[in-house]
Amino acid sequence: MKTVKLGKTGIVVSELCIGTSLFGRQRLHLPEDRASAIIGSALDAGVNFIDTAKHHQTYTVIQHALKKVQKDIVIMSRSSGEDYEQMEKDLYDGLRALKRDAVDIFLMHGVTNEDDIASRAWAWRAIRDFKEAGAIKAAGVSTWTVPGLEATLMSTDIADIEVVFVPFNRIGFGLHEGSLDEASDALAKLDDNGIGIIATSVLGAGFITGPMEEAIDFVRNKPYIDAMRLNLRSLEHLQAALHILNDESIPDELRQAIDAEARRLWVFAWCTACGECVGVCPEKALSIGGWWSGKTAKVDDAKCTLCGECGPICPVSCLHVF
Ligand code: SF4
Ligand code: SF4
Repeated sequence: MKTVKLGKTGIVVSELCIGTSLFGRQRLHLPEDRASAIIGSALDAGVNFIDTAKHHQTYTVIQHALKKVQKDIVIMSRSSGEDYEQMEKDLYDGLRALKRDAVDIFLMHGVTNEDDIASRAWAWRAIRDFKEAGAIKAAGVSTWTVPGLEATLMSTDIADIEVVFVPFNRIGFGLHEGSLDEASDALAKLDDNGIGIIATSVLGAGFITGPMEEAIDFVRNKPYIDAMRLNLRSLEHLQAALHILNDESIPDELRQAIDAEARRLWVFAWCTACGECVGVCPEKALSIGGWWSGKTAKVDDAKCTLCGECGPICPVSCLHVF
């Protein structure tokens, strides 16, 4: 597994970062032994980089997977905290749950634009204080908007921002308020400033059709991207990703096993019930409902053909195919 130095942080990570968000309650809620087996297999194959966040609820799974691991593992986490207290609480909770004195990379999650960065100055201050105290090794931001990337570039705190985490894939899934070209320009400039860039949503949340190699190579060939987080739902998916990143062909039987896996469209918890997806579905498989637990989009699996029309238009990227 190729390793890279993450910008000016000096932290060396594997090109593949194992995402854990799929394993948690908000998404697939995999049994703990299955989720930790995926993480463990990745670490055995040379991966040293794991992504998590408090809201993913995967600290326990990671702890379980790391029990027998001897080598140093780089852990990245983040918080949507708006103020000092919330950021501090999320940081402490993470350190306690992961039984660590320090987190390797910690991000201010979901920066949307310049005003957002300004309004969360105290939250950023908490990250800086923890870094000065040695409890964070590298600090950064995550964003899913082009104005968020541009604001990061213009921020007076740029000297302190060392890592950016952003959705990047060939269909632009998950990237909002700007084009892929605009995002590329901003990322190239951030890279010039020594910022480590980690791409997520590389497989377009399941909406990218065609060989997995094409989706991964699209991101891998961007010189400004250092590493990619992949959310892999099964050991077979992990094996396929490892083959690609080790420049090997995917064996036919493995490809067939992946193709045979049952897939469906998921609506995740942060659906705002805006209804935008309902009108684009050619099969009339989507509706808004669920009065008992708050309204969300509902999928009629019997009608859904996984055509992919709805996912990219969702303003909060809560439709995924797994
Ligand atoms: S477009 Fe997204 S947020 Fe809006 S109803 Fe559909 S799934 Fe929910
Ligand atoms: S994937 Fe296609 S068929 Fe399925 S709900 Fe979305 S638009 Fe409709």
